[in-house]
Amino acid sequence: MSVVQLNQVKKYFDGIAAIKELSLNIEEGEVLGLFGHNGAGKTTTMKLILGLLKPTEGTVSVFGHAPTSPHFSDHRYRLGFLPENVSFYQQLTGKEVLAYFAKLKKVHKNRVEQLLEEVGLNHAANRKVKTYSKGMKQRLGLAQALLTAPKLLLLDEPTVGLDPIATQDFYAMVDQLKKSGCSVVLCSHVLPGVEKHIDRAAILGAGQLQALGTLTELREQAQLPTTIRAYG
Ligand code: ATP
Repeated sequence: MSVVQLNQVKKYFDGIAAIKELSLNIEEGEVLGLFGHNGAGKTTTMKLILGLLKPTEGTVSVFGHAPTSPHFSDHRYRLGFLPENVSFYQQLTGKEVLAYFAKLKKVHKNRVEQLLEEVGLNHAANRKVKTYSKGMKQRLGLAQALLTAPKLLLLDEPTVGLDPIATQDFYAMVDQLKKSGCSVVLCSHVLPGVEKHIDRAAILGAGQLQALGTLTELREQAQLPTTIRAYG
């Protein structure tokens, strides 16, 4: 079953197309890599899925509903989002940050302990965020995105600035989420580091889908742009 369906979507800003035409499905339990250069339309696509933007033309459906419709509020908890460069109150501890978001999202505080454990931050739960490494901050960001036990998780460039070990740790958690049946959209400029963790890749260029398929399929069809393939 498709968790997300974008059907002939166009998105214009002041008459200029950010998305020229995009049709794309994301299946249940699938990890989809969304690739493209700066300005390709990745963030706009994420915002359309999150319901932060309305398509100029075409339709977006998430869990069978338009994410911009007022009725979507009943389904919003099923969506988790980790923005690029997430930042938290530096003076709060990791546990306080999560407890704050748990309150905002009306999630039971037991979930805070559970998530700190799941993302490997138990040992640092009572330390101020300002003492966290970038990898720890990203794990805290992931925990925040997972508070409502979402069925669809959107990750915007989640490992930029992380060292190879922190990157692998992060993607190991994504693998676990996939095993639990969560669908994931993983936005990235480049393939290295991500490739073992995605089921399919969607390559955006100038607001259009340039290629879509498994990495094996794209390699066979020589459809992996060199820049996405080559740079780590
Ligand atoms: P990056 O990797 O740099 O984040 P991206 O692939 O996420 O790029 P988008 O942010 O989706 O690309 O932008 C796609 C195009 O739409 C760009 O040309 C951008 O300038 C334009 N755009 C995005 N949001 C707006 C906006 N709110 N108003 C005007 N133009 C916008």
